[in-house]
Amino acid sequence: MWRPPEGLFPANAWFGMTLRRGGGSSGPYASLNLGLEVGDDRGSVLRNRALVLTALGIDGAGPARLHQVHGSRIVKPFEAPCRADGFFLEPEDPWAAVSAADCAPVAIVARTGAFGALLHSGWRGARDRIAALAARLLVERGVEATDLRAAIGPCIHACCYPVGPEVAGDFPREVLRPHPAGVALDLPLAIARALTEAGLPGDAIHAAPECTSCRADDFYSHRRDRGVTGRHWALLRLERSGAPDARRAGDGGSSAPP
Ligand SMILES: [Zn+2]
Repeated sequence: MWRPPEGLFPANAWFGMTLRRGGGSSGPYASLNLGLEVGDDRGSVLRNRALVLTALGIDGAGPARLHQVHGSRIVKPFEAPCRADGFFLEPEDPWAAVSAADCAPVAIVARTGAFGALLHSGWRGARDRIAALAARLLVERGVEATDLRAAIGPCIHACCYPVGPEVAGDFPREVLRPHPAGVALDLPLAIARALTEAGLPGDAIHAAPECTSCRADDFYSHRRDRGVTGRHWALLRLERSGAPDARRAGDGGSSAPP
């Protein structure tokens, strides 16, 4: 598992992202692919998911999941599965998970541990500022923006993310980088900028240094593998303070998204 630095989030918050190691899938999906409908063997994916659920102590129904559409809609876990790209979480909520292979998983948690958000953000989510929208949702609950902490998990970095003018044109120059193929988007920086503009202090934001495309040993990359690759899950859970409780971990609904 990739985890953010110790102490970034309050003790009742668990955020992490699976690596590609330790599962039973083979070929381009080796080995811990958690994505159904990406061409991998269904039985292998379900066994991989079971490994992750067991490791985290999540009950058999699994975490709340979304039909991700590269939008900016943020929902409560009880609304899932639905078309959205973010969860708003409180301590009584079940585990939540988003899936990614280059897009950034983002977690935002109040310093008190009372509220959190889990997001999936590629360039469209960054353009539509889903991270700032999530921060605003937490601020609307009475949390000061300066009391929010955020982690941007491993995602594709500018070294490997050349974009066309139709994408580059949606971003300020500060988050674009020169690239041999033209211009590249600095996705984690674009997300971090939205968070600082929402009022988070710069030192309250951790961006993982790992580029998913550079690090084939640990990560799937949709761009690097030309679409034939697996999916990671990034998971967030807020425990009730002092009373870890996974009883509601299966409240995600009936039809699970892929
Ligand atoms: Zn790279």
